[in-house]
Amino acid sequence: MVVMGLGLLSLLCLYILLAMFFDQGKLIRKNTLYRLSSKPSAIMLTFDDGPHPIWTPQLLEVLKRHDVPAVFFVVGSLAEKRPDLIRNMIEEGHTVGNHSYSHRPIWKLSKQQVCWEIETTERIISKAAGCSSMLFRPPKGFIRPSQKRLLEQMGYQTVTWSLSPKDWVGFSARYLVSTVLRRVRGGDIILFHDGGGVCSLTCGKRANTITAVERLIVELKRQGYHFESLKQNYARVKDDVGREQQV
Ligand SMILES: [Zn+2]
Repeated sequence: MVVMGLGLLSLLCLYILLAMFFDQGKLIRKNTLYRLSSKPSAIMLTFDDGPHPIWTPQLLEVLKRHDVPAVFFVVGSLAEKRPDLIRNMIEEGHTVGNHSYSHRPIWKLSKQQVCWEIETTERIISKAAGCSSMLFRPPKGFIRPSQKRLLEQMGYQTVTWSLSPKDWVGFSARYLVSTVLRRVRGGDIILFHDGGGVCSLTCGKRANTITAVERLIVELKRQGYHFESLKQNYARVKDDVGREQQV
């Protein structure tokens, strides 16, 4: 019994270490938008797992202060509780994408369940924001190829990322900043979180993320980068994906 317990504990530790240091986004990039490849000086900031009543307003304040647009992939069950934050995002020039209703891993779900998760969230976003971006990011970073095709048939662009500093782990702001500055390239789509958490959908602390994002905005602008969201570039970005897939 003790040996079995130790074995399970080792497996759990291995899983956590892999999640902390291996970017599973690399496994699901095919046929998704993961870089803005035709814009060598552009960076796109994306935030998943909100809206959160504490962290999202603080983050919106930072983005407004520096006049930086971003893309928020919101969880439908959380957006339903705070439609005012969805409206704020749109009014302040950001784009709101769909991150499913329950944040369950969609690779485990049936076609019918996936459609329900996405359409329910879309109705919540559209009701709050008055518009739809038709952008989707898979919760937990996993999606089956057949589900990517389903999303495309539903009219969605699946968006993943090219750079993830793993802020959900709880790393310090200093570590997050140095990780991004060491690895950043023009065209990167960077994954951060304004909500979420390991124990529940809202338990995570995002103060380090917000501090890091502000420092990064200042430093990346100083280095000559500018920030884009997807709304104004959606058509062009789809062309980029086509070119990348042919390489
Ligand atoms: Zn998520």
